[in-house]
Amino acid sequence: MPHPLSQTTSQRLARLGVDPSAFTGGALTVCSPIDGSAIGAVHPASAEAVAEAVGRAESAFKAWRSVPAPRRGELIRLFGEELREHKQTLGELVSVEAGKIRSEGLGEVQEMIDICDFAVGLSRQLYGLTIASERPGHRMMETWHPLGVVGVISAFNFPVAVWAWNAALAVVCGDAVVWKPSEKTPLSALACQSLFERAARRFGDEAPAGLSELVIGARDAGEALVDDVRVALVSATGSTRMGREVGPRVARRFGRSLLELGGNNAVIVAPTADLDLAVRGIAFAAVGTAGQRCTSTRRLIVHQSHQAVLVQRLKKAYAGLPIGHPLAADTLVGPLIDAQSFEAMQSALRAATEQGGRVFGGERVLAAQYPEAYYVKPAIVEMPAQTETVCHETFAPILYVMSYERFEDAVALQNAVPQGLSSAIFSNDLRETEAFLSATGSDCGIANVNIGTSGAEIGGAFGGEKDTGGGRESGSDAWKAYMRRATNTINYSRELPLAQGVRFDV
Ligand code: NAD
Repeated sequence: MPHPLSQTTSQRLARLGVDPSAFTGGALTVCSPIDGSAIGAVHPASAEAVAEAVGRAESAFKAWRSVPAPRRGELIRLFGEELREHKQTLGELVSVEAGKIRSEGLGEVQEMIDICDFAVGLSRQLYGLTIASERPGHRMMETWHPLGVVGVISAFNFPVAVWAWNAALAVVCGDAVVWKPSEKTPLSALACQSLFERAARRFGDEAPAGLSELVIGARDAGEALVDDVRVALVSATGSTRMGREVGPRVARRFGRSLLELGGNNAVIVAPTADLDLAVRGIAFAAVGTAGQRCTSTRRLIVHQSHQAVLVQRLKKAYAGLPIGHPLAADTLVGPLIDAQSFEAMQSALRAATEQGGRVFGGERVLAAQYPEAYYVKPAIVEMPAQTETVCHETFAPILYVMSYERFEDAVALQNAVPQGLSSAIFSNDLRETEAFLSATGSDCGIANVNIGTSGAEIGGAFGGEKDTGGGRESGSDAWKAYMRRATNTINYSRELPLAQGVRFDV
């Protein structure tokens, strides 16, 4: 007798147009973090299958690069329509497979819709510069050309949006995409691929087969993509460990990589902070998605004068958090992804205690109702210092609290971790907030004032420095990573003057 959850998952996948053969009978079992039950058995791609997918994508690229960019935008517009129509179903599938609460599952699909809209506009704005030439009768300009096959490797915690950030831009830029999703969330990937194929069918023959390829599997499938010289750009989202392996492998073959890796994000709460805002901003960023966002707040650096009251208010807010089934109407904290994640959280809490931390929360709940799933109370840990454990990204809801006296010390603490993704300050002191955003302030790719560290909009470039990998995705001019730049010099005179005044008369 099939589990009711797996029945509804099958129904959702059917509504999204996924053939049942794609998620039944395969060697890779997919489990829902909601209750640990099996919801699919997908077919991992062998290295040969990955190579074939790259081959199809390469052929597609050769045709697609000649389709005018605004036409390419039309395909993404149609894809955005499919996403709008199926937002509810796809959002729920994300909840079932990744454990996100309903509004966050839907929010992820909204993010896909938003990047599609952005990419449609972008398809008419792939501008190059015109540059003043030092030679008379000459003109210089830059042209942006499609790059090639883009390999996308994604993490479990954003099972659909990260691919869309990459794919929507890559497709309008004239590239083909091969996606290797997380082995923990392949069903959401099958659904996205199906919706993209629907849009491509509506678009017509101009969209070549192979424009978007999906290869399911674990690390070995990712490695096959990483090592394939036909993959011009590898955009990889995941842990710093993964990035440390992928980055050098891609560089060895002179490929391009875009790395979006772990974060260890801090909020500074200054003496002039609006504490009501701070409590809400910190609570959402620290416990949202059960602390499983790359931008989750993991460190709170609070001015001594506020420490006692802020910690007390946060504990009160934490005590009332509804933890449970992510699709239940009032739930704010869903499950951790799996047992391994729970173990990592417990081990970090033990280490923090050994390093002098005082732990509030962090224990497992709902174990009787869901013996095969891992729901936890988010933890607050008051630390005597920024110890080794605090400097490490534990992908779970742990908020380490440290205090400071001088603003410079707060910024130094914030920057003294290996990662550099997101950061925030709650302050109403203009000198402080501007200093935080200046060259000598936060060293992160994202620096916010009076909002938390998570929940970025697609309009800005997204990514971080240091161990976060340095890549930028999504808005602003992140599209340039998906194209190649040619510098053109045109001589419209009857002379041949050389640059730098060089004479070479033959
Ligand atoms: P992970 O590193 O375990 O896996 C990420 C992806 O990389 C998966 O698809 C996996 O199969 C693949 N992979 C792993 N090793 C590989 C290798 N050697 N070669 C090729 N592919 C390989 O990460 P996860 O547990 O799925 O996700 C959580 C991590 O992702 C956290 O560290 C989080 O901060 C990070 N993350 C970062 C961002 C960002 O934008 N910076 C966004 C989401 C998640």
